Amino acid sequence: MKCKSVEELQQFVDEAKIYAKFGKVADYIPALGKANPNDLSVAIYYPDGTVVYAGDSKRKVTLQSISKIISLALVLMERGEKDVFEKVGMEPTGDPFNSIAKLEETAPVKPLNPMINAGALVVTHLIRGNSPEERIHKLLAFVKSLTGNPNITYSEEVAKSEFNTAYLNRSLCYFLKQHGIIAENVEEVLDVYTKQCAIEMTCLDLARIGLVFAMDGVDPLTSKRIMPLRIARICKTFMVTCGMYNASGEFAIKVGIPAKSGVSGGILGAVPGRFGIGIFGPALDEKGNSITGIKLLELLSEKYSLSMF
Ligand code: GLU
Repeated sequence: MKCKSVEELQQFVDEAKIYAKFGKVADYIPALGKANPNDLSVAIYYPDGTVVYAGDSKRKVTLQSISKIISLALVLMERGEKDVFEKVGMEPTGDPFNSIAKLEETAPVKPLNPMINAGALVVTHLIRGNSPEERIHKLLAFVKSLTGNPNITYSEEVAKSEFNTAYLNRSLCYFLKQHGIIAENVEEVLDVYTKQCAIEMTCLDLARIGLVFAMDGVDPLTSKRIMPLRIARICKTFMVTCGMYNASGEFAIKVGIPAKSGVSGGILGAVPGRFGIGIFGPALDEKGNSITGIKLLELLSEKYSLSMF
């Protein structure tokens, strides 16, 4: 069973929107604080190219942590599993995404997984290139191939806003550098990382990326393989175990699909073999997930039996 009409989807959006009043827009990155907590847009992309969407589907929003799944796929393709997982682990954590606590407890130092900031910073630093510009352009080229949209870029304003205030991420980088995990200039890592997080797109673009993951790395619209099956599976597994921060367990029970969220209120979902979904709803719950986005996914999961478990 699938959602076929805008009207049907709009009903779910209207129901989920009620929960915006219980959430709060992220403002620790000043530019994100300008978002309207009542916005909620969603797109569902099916393998036959059909798209159903509701809300302001033209609004562009930054990826933030959703970008971590994309940089991971790129770095796995460039360097292979062995090199990457030597430096970053595969285990979920009950700690918040920006926590430094567990880093001190592992010896030798190794971020628990690539979805928390410490792990994502390590992954970003592994993107090959001679300069920050070359590396962000390589990542952008990959995002363009995933979305089929040649116009994707990053928001200078959001990137700068995060770069100027990323005290915690700087601390994580310096800690990792002290322990020899990050080998390069911290400001350069942060330059690439903040631009990566500021890559912006509509919920339609986001749903198209979800579709590629749902179809195990192949874009069904062009029949082109964008990433190897194994890498698509690794990314989806991280989405299930750590994609929704330290609420991933509850999300697996209530929704049951591979998904990755970001503090901009975005959620990328991949319903294996069925469709990709992209959501933007900036009001966040206390864990940093879109409160309306999660509600919407719960409603959709129940109605169309989306759980893979
Ligand atoms: N750029 C954000 C940060 O590093 C991403 C966090 C997120 O979306 O969870 O703080």
